Amino acid sequence: MRRNSGDGVPQKGRSCGACTLCCTQLEIESKPGYSTRLDNAEDIAKPAGRACPYLTVEGCSIYEVRPLVCRQFACDWLLGEKKFGPEDSPMNTGRIGVRGVTLHFYNYASRSERY
Ligand code: SF4
Ligand code: SF4
Repeated sequence: MRRNSGDGVPQKGRSCGACTLCCTQLEIESKPGYSTRLDNAEDIAKPAGRACPYLTVEGCSIYEVRPLVCRQFACDWLLGEKKFGPEDSPMNTGRIGVRGVTLHFYNYASRSERY
């Protein structure tokens, strides 16, 4: 899966907060013209289920300079898709909706256990 929902704008009142589920659970796919590169040319492409090397217990350690793919991504809950009510955030449910497809992570553990 391509980790990018394109031009998504978060629904008013919703934000990622402490959630970083997509930084671990989703694949980041590198393709020509698809910006997964950092300024130093390092590519953060990674398989699903593996934490991004820049992910820490405090969240993204390179947040200010994170690649475009990370800046553009918004899951369906964040976008306010009808299927995901206010209480259905990925942190609450272990589910990430990406362009209408819902991915379930039943073993989603507490934050401290994911690193
Ligand atoms: S899964 Fe959704 S709410 Fe969680 S960090 Fe990613 S975009 Fe934000
Ligand atoms: S660079 Fe930051 S925002 Fe992007 S996947 Fe890694 S930890 Fe998440």
